[in-house]
Amino acid sequence: MIRATLAVIALALLSTAARADETSATDKLRILYSTRFTFTDDGLPLVTVEIMSGKKDVKLHAKGGIGVHPDGAGGSTIESDGGEAWTITVENAKPAVLQDWTIVETLQPDDATGIAAAMTRWKERGFDPRSFEIGTVFGTGGEVIDTREIRIAVDPVAAGKGAERGQAIAKRFGIPTSVHQELVRRPSGMIVARSGGTTIRNPSVLWFVPKRATETLGVADVPTNTGGSQLETGTEERRYWGSVYVTLDHEGMLVAANAVPEDKLLAGLVPAEMYPDAPAEALEAQAIAARTELLQKIGRRNLTDPFLLCSTQQCQVYAGAGKEDPRATKAIERTRGMVVLRDGGGLVDIRYSASCGGHTEDNDTIWGGEADPSLRGRGDDPKNAATRITDENLDAFLDGDADAWCAKGKQAKKKFRWTERIAGDDLNARVAVEYPEIGRVKNLVAKQRGVSGRIQLLSIKGDKGAVDVSGDLHIRRLLGGLKSTLFEIKREGDAFVFRGAGFGHGVGMCQMGAIGMADAGKGHVEILKHYYRGTHLHKLY
Ligand SMILES: [Zn+2]
Repeated sequence: MIRATLAVIALALLSTAARADETSATDKLRILYSTRFTFTDDGLPLVTVEIMSGKKDVKLHAKGGIGVHPDGAGGSTIESDGGEAWTITVENAKPAVLQDWTIVETLQPDDATGIAAAMTRWKERGFDPRSFEIGTVFGTGGEVIDTREIRIAVDPVAAGKGAERGQAIAKRFGIPTSVHQELVRRPSGMIVARSGGTTIRNPSVLWFVPKRATETLGVADVPTNTGGSQLETGTEERRYWGSVYVTLDHEGMLVAANAVPEDKLLAGLVPAEMYPDAPAEALEAQAIAARTELLQKIGRRNLTDPFLLCSTQQCQVYAGAGKEDPRATKAIERTRGMVVLRDGGGLVDIRYSASCGGHTEDNDTIWGGEADPSLRGRGDDPKNAATRITDENLDAFLDGDADAWCAKGKQAKKKFRWTERIAGDDLNARVAVEYPEIGRVKNLVAKQRGVSGRIQLLSIKGDKGAVDVSGDLHIRRLLGGLKSTLFEIKREGDAFVFRGAGFGHGVGMCQMGAIGMADAGKGHVEILKHYYRGTHLHKLY
């Protein structure tokens, strides 16, 4: 009986879907691709996060059964008798059509004069420029959050060719460029879900929700290199709060994504970012930083994907449900809706690293671009807040500075000060991969240091030539994976000895320092104001 009813529903659905494809189904998809997000009934942002892409099939499982929603939350539901497990495949898939543009200028959305002038400027240079809006805007708690930016872009080429084209334009006009990817046509295909004798088809997307609201949904064969360690390459079943939808990626393969309330997402993220046994005030600072970072990212990346955030290390370390820790979850609940705002308005561009080593760094030293007033480096030792670390005082800094917030605590020690020794042959082999022309390495010299003493420009002198190397991560990797670029270089025989401080780029919040401050009785407000200058906390929801 149930099965017969289902068949009727499925049939009805098919005909409706076919007819309504150009209207309601298209609208549902538009939401997946938009930079906007909705709020749950509970008043929390509902965020869509990629689980996995490039799949031929997706297998879902929930003990109490799964409701299938062809049109997303609020739409009609199909209940099946054998509905504990579903296998989803795709038929007649067509890949997306994408193209790369070269971004030549970035402006604020309210700068109409500037935008018009930029368009004219690039027309006069012989291009046919287009403006793209990225970011999002939402109002809540008496505050309007606006993360939008206008990109002026020129010279569209096939996807993948944009970087090369951008370099040519950068060279010709002497400007920095980057790539904007445009989705010219969304991928399409018939999503087919099977459970027992039931088959459900819907164009381009199907949503799945556990029937019991208190249950998570299991997704089989999720690659473990998304979220957590990048070194593992296996797969495992992962569980997710909220709903899971299956749609198509650029290649027309299946992508599974999770529409998850903000608190559940943060509960999966925060324990991966900070030891859950850290003091409560430090966890609360981390929770507020993570929430601010999350809202800042929405609508500014994954612009051509059917989700707001990807789950890999570069986006967000999210591995679903089951990674929660009660202390971190409590910190998220207690700081509900709280974010770090610039005193002049707008979300802070949140950055943090494990240990600043006693001095935080300026954002532009590490990543280039414009100086961010809320991301200025300063001493993490209250007595030396204004001291700049230079070649002259570096030795004394590395010997001392025991009063820095990140110097304290047993987990802090190894990150605060470290020494790495690399044999001459090993260093030569590493350098020769990238710079074979300079010959055998004779000497390494810090040519330029940031305010914390982190090396911005490293000169490598060889017996056949020299090269100047920049980029925080690049320098660290080239030298065998050093914890930071805050180091001095000595020779011991043939070996190079690096004596250094800190773990990570050192910009924004020092996590070990946050723990040190909390241990000393400081609250999350004071911690965040110490690491993000000219900012205040605001409760958005
Ligand atoms: Zn620190």
